[in-house]
Amino acid sequence: MRSITTLDLQYAHRFYGFQGEAQYLHGHTGSMTIEVEDTVEPGVNMVFPCNEIKKTAWNVLKNFDHALILREDDPLLPAILAVYEKQGIKDGSPQNTMKGEAFKTELATAYPDCRLVVTKETLTVEGMIKIAYDLLKDKLNIVKITFTSGDNAASADFKAPTEERPRCPLCGISLNENGVCPKCGYVKR
Ligand SMILES: [Zn+2]
Ligand SMILES: [Zn+2]
Repeated sequence: MRSITTLDLQYAHRFYGFQGEAQYLHGHTGSMTIEVEDTVEPGVNMVFPCNEIKKTAWNVLKNFDHALILREDDPLLPAILAVYEKQGIKDGSPQNTMKGEAFKTELATAYPDCRLVVTKETLTVEGMIKIAYDLLKDKLNIVKITFTSGDNAASADFKAPTEERPRCPLCGISLNENGVCPKCGYVKR
């Protein structure tokens, strides 16, 4: 069975070099739906608590919220950074508190201090799904991600991991490598 959660991301981007309106900087509220598949954990009678899927995903994906997402070769990138630098907000500001953990993958690098994500490919809805899956696949048994943004929507199916991820019978979240629940302290015997 599947547990499903949805979260919203507000971001600005553009399709650099694209022949159309989207080559101009603009913004979206995007909506991402993440489907996690496993057996039903009998202790809690659920696959995975949806709020925990959301929390895990949000820890990483908040880097994309209220963020500017630009491709690495976009000339806007140095221009924007120069403005942020001049304004003294490039390396953070006291009001920039909703920061995710910085990450660097093959597909994207997050700079939470200035709410910027630099991507290898144009950030289409398809591109966003690739990046999100790559960031979350080791944390959750993701079998499907759907991302909609304005009139654009895409979805991708993924193969569920074959190795078992034991969950806590009391709160449903994944046990750590020692068989201990990081939330309630349950120990698997
Ligand atoms: Zn767009
Ligand atoms: Zn627990």
